[in-house]
Amino acid sequence: MPPDHPTSGASKILILGGTTEARALAERLVAEGHHVITSLAGRTADPAIPPGDIRIGGFGGVDGLVRYLREEKITRVIDATHPFARQVSENTATACAAAGVPLETVDRPQWQPQPGDQWIDVSSLTEAAAALPAGATVFLALGRQYISAFEGRDDCHFVVRMVDRPEHRLPFRSHDLLLGKPSPDAAKEAALFTLYRITHLVARNSGGDAGYGKIAAARALGIPVMMIGR
Ligand code: NAP
Repeated sequence: MPPDHPTSGASKILILGGTTEARALAERLVAEGHHVITSLAGRTADPAIPPGDIRIGGFGGVDGLVRYLREEKITRVIDATHPFARQVSENTATACAAAGVPLETVDRPQWQPQPGDQWIDVSSLTEAAAALPAGATVFLALGRQYISAFEGRDDCHFVVRMVDRPEHRLPFRSHDLLLGKPSPDAAKEAALFTLYRITHLVARNSGGDAGYGKIAAARALGIPVMMIGR
């Protein structure tokens, strides 16, 4: 059953969240009168909090999640996590099967190239790092756990945008650090790319609207995108 299917009777729903879609879903299901608990991994210091109850932090693998589902008497689970958050989705599928709780998954289609896009399709962060030409000024739209693949490319300048200030110095000889979230507004992203004289963008094909501004901005400015597939 898709997550926007009308429900009969109130249920106790666990949403695996951390995404715009998860917040919208929580808003709607709470408004419909369901008891909603959104689970966040706790990766960001100041997450956007959806309505309903919140729990933060890992469950302790599949066993921990099975225990949680039973103890909390969860009747539905919705996996609305980011498409690149693979481990939590695998654990959730296994745990729901073990606990006999119905699972729905929010599907976020990948972005498709549009006329004018200059995508270089790569299948990993390592491949993206290797594909950058020497002398590039690269916008890395990646979380802190993904940037180490670009370490050693001392012949490039990196402009890195992160939600929270990293605890350690970034591993680049030459970089700028921007703190903030992506904008869905292509004009804002384009202004940023122009200001920092970006020549290449590295992005994962996450899909969705929230992160699409940078993709549209790259198209408008003729900037090649190292697009990491799922
Ligand atoms: P991941 O690698 O798939 O998960 C690693 C572990 O983190 C899981 O095994 C689980 O720990 C815990 N975890 C992840 N998401 C959780 C959640 N919503 N609630 C409770 N525990 C969670 O995940 P990730 O890629 O680090 O992403 C973490 C969170 O950030 C997700 O909620 C995701 O939606 C959000 N997010 C991720 C990205 C991305 O690029 N990956 C982008 C935007 C938002 P236990 O095994 O201990 O339960």
